[in-house]
Amino acid sequence: MSGSTPLRSDLQELPRLSALPGTEHALPAWDPFPIALRDCPCCGGRGAAVLVRPDGLPVAQCSGCRCFYVALMLTDELLDRYYRGYWGNAKTRLLTEELARYLVSSAPARAAADHTLRKIGTLAGGWPGKRVLDVGCGFGEKTSMMRALGAAVRGIDVAADAVAFVSRHLGVDASRTTLERDPGPPAACDVVTMFEFVEHPLHPLATIEEAVRRLRPGGLLAFVTPNGTAGERRLGSRESWEGFRAEMEHLQYFHVETVAFIARRFGCRILHLEQYGVRAPEDETAAASNALRGRFSRLRLLAKFVPGVRAAVYALRAAQGRRRAAILPHREDGDYHLFAVLQVP
Ligand SMILES: [Zn+2]
Repeated sequence: MSGSTPLRSDLQELPRLSALPGTEHALPAWDPFPIALRDCPCCGGRGAAVLVRPDGLPVAQCSGCRCFYVALMLTDELLDRYYRGYWGNAKTRLLTEELARYLVSSAPARAAADHTLRKIGTLAGGWPGKRVLDVGCGFGEKTSMMRALGAAVRGIDVAADAVAFVSRHLGVDASRTTLERDPGPPAACDVVTMFEFVEHPLHPLATIEEAVRRLRPGGLLAFVTPNGTAGERRLGSRESWEGFRAEMEHLQYFHVETVAFIARRFGCRILHLEQYGVRAPEDETAAASNALRGRFSRLRLLAKFVPGVRAAVYALRAAQGRRRAAILPHREDGDYHLFAVLQVP
């Protein structure tokens, strides 16, 4: 499809993935349907479209950095409309004082069980006193853990309700902004973290470039994102990768080669690169959401497929003393996530 504007009829030639069961009615209707081509958002290369997502958007794989990406250009306006319709006021309803108390009291135990934070801490020479910027902090699930580990952490997110919750109820400095718009001084951070973030922005490389600028020499950029390498392994197989079938707000899926490209681009060393984990099994997630049915019945679908909401549902279950300490099921087997720690020069 490179070089010409793909029409809907061109897309019919490609395999079209079905929505994950139960998510059909949550699929966005992209209206107007985007027609402008999008090049690889990481290296600027081009690739051939390889599949069509359940929302009708083609996904291409870059021939350069192997990144999978939505091959048509969504506008900020379309994305804004999608996010509004997607979240509704559900997220706001989750952000209770009960959740805040749980996040603060459980932070040390959750942090001790979190293998990504253990790894980042080891590579950073320990957390205490480290100046950390948590990009896409959401409702502070990880932010609260890093503070409990002794870091001087600040969060930023574009979601106003999440930022208000984090600063008011968790007592963590948080701002409603993007990294590119946030007027921070250069070389002032020891660690920049992006948990489940880089798959969201239209221009992820610009965000990463700004993160690199914020880091002191030798500082660490750590991110966890859906693993396009896993998608590549399952291309053409009967069971297509679920990363392409859920969470239609994701606009790119980094490959291990994408991480290598980013490291080269910014002169970073890759200190850690790992593929791990499966999505929360549906039965466990369903159990968590069933426990909250009535109070949060509208969240059942969101809880299954949106990591932030899923985590909040688990957190609330624990806050309410249900069943067991609800640390998110965390599997180091599987390959759903890509976890990278880069060191800037
Ligand atoms: Zn690329």
